Amino acid sequence: MQSSQTTDFDAIVVGAGFAGVALTHYLREAGLSLRVFDRAPDIGGTWAWNKYPGAATDSEGYYYCLTFSKEVLEEWTWSKRYPGWEETQNYLRFVADKFDMWPHLQFNTEITRAEYQADRGIWIVTTGDGATHTCRFFISGMGMISQPQIPNIPGQTTFKGPCFHSSRWPEGLEFAGKRVGIIGAGATTVQMLPEVAKTAASVTVFQRTPNFVMPAMQKPMTPEWEKEIKENYQEIIDKCRNHVFGMGFNPPSGRTVAESTPEEVQQVFEENWHGSFRWVFETFDDLLATPEANKAAADFIIEKMIKAKVEDPDTAELLTPKGYPLFAKRPPLDHGYYEAFNRDNVKLVDIKDYEPIVEITETGVRTTQNHHEFDIIVLATGFKAYTGALEAMDIVGEGGQILRDKWQDQSSSIMGVAVAGYPNFFMVTGPQAPFANLPTSIEQNAQWISECVKKMNAEGKQVFYPSATAEEEWTNLTAEIHAQTMMAEGDKVNSWMMGANREDRKARVLIFFGGAHVYYDKLKESSDAGFPELAFADTAA
Ligand code: NAP
Repeated sequence: MQSSQTTDFDAIVVGAGFAGVALTHYLREAGLSLRVFDRAPDIGGTWAWNKYPGAATDSEGYYYCLTFSKEVLEEWTWSKRYPGWEETQNYLRFVADKFDMWPHLQFNTEITRAEYQADRGIWIVTTGDGATHTCRFFISGMGMISQPQIPNIPGQTTFKGPCFHSSRWPEGLEFAGKRVGIIGAGATTVQMLPEVAKTAASVTVFQRTPNFVMPAMQKPMTPEWEKEIKENYQEIIDKCRNHVFGMGFNPPSGRTVAESTPEEVQQVFEENWHGSFRWVFETFDDLLATPEANKAAADFIIEKMIKAKVEDPDTAELLTPKGYPLFAKRPPLDHGYYEAFNRDNVKLVDIKDYEPIVEITETGVRTTQNHHEFDIIVLATGFKAYTGALEAMDIVGEGGQILRDKWQDQSSSIMGVAVAGYPNFFMVTGPQAPFANLPTSIEQNAQWISECVKKMNAEGKQVFYPSATAEEEWTNLTAEIHAQTMMAEGDKVNSWMMGANREDRKARVLIFFGGAHVYYDKLKESSDAGFPELAFADTAA
């Protein structure tokens, strides 16, 4: 039985990236009518926005993908280990073409408000042009890292040239021969710098906190490698499903640094130095568990990446992370970042201790020591992760509470998929979901959501009410686990993984660090048990 209320769509989804595409598949399969809105002009989500030079996946492409179609896995070919944004966007186009998804997708349309109508058990969704649409289920597929964090630097609007956030790179921007200033030194800058430095007259990176940058070791896909992948795809999918970060990596090695000699540790580190985050998960099982093991890994990375690659010792010293463990900030992958600092046209400015930024001027960036002249300024200053996109619009639940207000001090949820007080509202990878290879998590969430609506339709239920008790339990469990991890030190270094990079909110627990595989088990248990975290009703209250 469908809703007793007539709505424009059974489901409205916001976001036409991996989540929107996965939801289109799973919800259509569940028999729902749906519309996916996106303010971007094209499919891709993250990959429709992050078009800066060098933007690429940090997961290897062959498991940074959706798995619901064996045919797509068979037919699609990745050109390299870490595909760039164009290729990833083309992959999503390929999926949308193959499954005729385009009629469901509406671009250039921002959702500004979604309000639950308690008496009717439906959502009224408003777009930027004031149009309204009704639906039974309102679903966020807006992505964990999509809402830009714009810094509050005085004078930002006075700069005469282009000054923009990295995820809003102007199409066709000519940077060859130009003086480019990049504020921020996170994963985005690590990818962007080597590309921009190739042709720019100069690039200056303003760094506050150095990162542990691990090697990507990009390489082309060969026919032999592709054959091996395609012959073993189910095994790769199973690895992702059973991995602590949803990655297609081998299971824990059974080795620990604690139980190995220093020589053995160095040998294992060396033998596994083949690029990607793999190294962290396939060498020793205690790298993220004990300070001693973590330090051994951190020292190895510093030696291999910074000391071996950066020629100027002062620059090397400035690029060396200090005072926080590996993974308290999400480590970027290197595509020539450190070597770029050996170029004559690249400069690193320490804005933490030596010359903090004072203001942006008409012609550049003024620090306490210098005025740096630029033609282009890039704000590679990160994102309001996990909650930012959900807080940017008015999501109004029962009793008129706006989600942004509910999350003022703590961003509670039930497994990152539902929120107490917000009936018939789902999130894909919302706060308190794990941080993982996103397509894996997205698909697990989309399956949980589609199973839930299938159950409701089969049993004639119109509304689900997420339980406040279940939310409290999940929030407590997430906080308890978080406190035991090294990621809890992220607030010392403004880690977005704790929202500690935001100027408008205090740091908080945003991520379930109990293991993505454990989380996927919990979703499955919930679905098998009939979703005990939700109270179902035949009609709206
Ligand atoms: P980020 O890691 O949060 O880095 C932002 C940078 O801007 C940091 O260096 C930060 O310094 C600096 N910053 C922030 N506010 C500032 C201010 N007011 N003044 C001066 N500096 C400021 O952001 P990101 O590089 O965009 O990456 C975010 C995440 O997006 C990544 O960790 C990753 O998960 C994802 N991402 C993924 C890929 C990929 O998979 N290929 C690529 C890019 C990004 P502090 O560190 O001192 O705060």
